[in-house]
Amino acid sequence: MNDSAHSNSAETRLRDQVAGCTRLLNMLDLLGYSGHVSTRLPEGDRFLIQPFDQSRAELAPEHLLVCDMDGNRLAGPEGERPPSEVYIHSEILRARPDVNCIAHFHHDLTTTFTLVEGVRLVPVKNHAVRWADGIPVHPDPSHVSDQALGRGLAETLGSHGAVQIRAHGQVVVAESIPGLLIDCVHFTENAEAQYRAQLLGKVLPLTEAEIEAFKHDFKRARHLPKLWAYYVGRGRAAGVLPADWQLEF
Ligand SMILES: [Zn+2]
Repeated sequence: MNDSAHSNSAETRLRDQVAGCTRLLNMLDLLGYSGHVSTRLPEGDRFLIQPFDQSRAELAPEHLLVCDMDGNRLAGPEGERPPSEVYIHSEILRARPDVNCIAHFHHDLTTTFTLVEGVRLVPVKNHAVRWADGIPVHPDPSHVSDQALGRGLAETLGSHGAVQIRAHGQVVVAESIPGLLIDCVHFTENAEAQYRAQLLGKVLPLTEAEIEAFKHDFKRARHLPKLWAYYVGRGRAAGVLPADWQLEF
């Protein structure tokens, strides 16, 4: 790997977080064999992402590649290339300065909400107020394998916190890796809750008043450290996360 890859502590910490988040999302059965997580580096115009075929269950900080905003590999283990859908990450990071971290995955039950006429994913659980401004559905189910396709997806995402890709999967964006992990958990939990509720009868999405009340009371800055510590603890207890990775909030 590039000698400068671990040259600063901020990058070392981000590498540990991306590898840790990837292993946790895999442990939770959200990521699957081909999902990927990225984070913007402090320089702003580069990001970390895992190699194309590295096992999500065994990803380590030193496996990560550094890529530029055109999706080109700049540094990383010799012979490794980024995932073919790297353009999801490069184009969203380019379009959204407020976003630092992105997860793309193919969660079957959540994707189901792109397959049925008249049925859309909506916030039904309290933590889904994060997506109260809408969960757009990108109409093109193609593999996002070039810059133009990545730009199109970034346009569909717009200013939202997540986007569904029809008959394909989902993208969740956040300000930090702990925030990203928790958002992925809440996003898929909301889909599972809506799915079960629809089996029982007419779904009652959160009302405007309920959304506003929860937003008023909810403190993301307090919620994220608690849940991050919980999932890191579960990962360590399960032997999924090495003890020496920097995963304190
Ligand atoms: Zn995909």
